[in-house]
Amino acid sequence: MLLHSIEAGNFKLDGGAMFGVVPKTLWNRTNPADSNNMIDIATRCLLIEDVDKLILIDNGLGTKQSEKFFNYYYRWGNYSLETSLKNKGFHMDDITDVFMTHLHFDHCGGSIQWNKNKTGYEPAFKNATYWTEKNHWQWATQPNPREKASFLKENLLPMEESGQLNFINRGETMFLQNSELGFDILFADGHTEKQMLPHIKYKNKTLVFTADLVPTVGHISVPYLTSYDTRPLLTMTEKEQFLNKAAKENYYLFFEHDAHNEICTLQTTEKGPRLNKTFTFDELFN
Ligand SMILES: [Zn+2]
Repeated sequence: MLLHSIEAGNFKLDGGAMFGVVPKTLWNRTNPADSNNMIDIATRCLLIEDVDKLILIDNGLGTKQSEKFFNYYYRWGNYSLETSLKNKGFHMDDITDVFMTHLHFDHCGGSIQWNKNKTGYEPAFKNATYWTEKNHWQWATQPNPREKASFLKENLLPMEESGQLNFINRGETMFLQNSELGFDILFADGHTEKQMLPHIKYKNKTLVFTADLVPTVGHISVPYLTSYDTRPLLTMTEKEQFLNKAAKENYYLFFEHDAHNEICTLQTTEKGPRLNKTFTFDELFN
């Protein structure tokens, strides 16, 4: 089994929204804002190359949204999902499984693309099964007013209409049946209903895809929450438990959204778990 870090493209989000009630004087040290108060955000995915599977975890913003939509998100840099896959020797059609931590557009936008004549949408991975969690699917397809702008219909309905959608239930990793891959999922409900955070055993390390539970190194302190969280108090509990465990068991945190830090370990301090060391994926595993 091999893992690959796949950059699907960078964008920007409002720094204030990314740090909620934390004052800018504090978060601006780790995540410096530009003149529009926007901070750098990555959409870094993980590709698992297993015996007969090629599993992609999350897939970024995609390319099908309007220019008006993208103008709000200041895309920057040269990364694209297709090119990053190609650089590792793969094509979009090689992907067998698309695992989505949750269905906010910056995590699953790459799942769906325009069809050839631009008359409708189709799965961007035509040979893949798309995996989400059942309660999360309901939550996303009947969205609350708070998250409505993050769950885009054009990302969701084509997955179902194509017949490629499948569900993971708590305690199951069905899509990895017969695999020898050490793969566990932490379900967290604070950011959104049933966000799924993969824990992968690889080269004697536990690598955790932290998605929106810990978006960047700047979010390692428990109260540093984004204001996108629907249940902030629950996120704090979940984060505290997770970070304590991660520090104790020496987990390697893989950041989807940190444009400048790929992986880190934690150390326990009197203030709680804090950053220990950062790594690039290549220096750690290649
Ligand atoms: Zn999210």
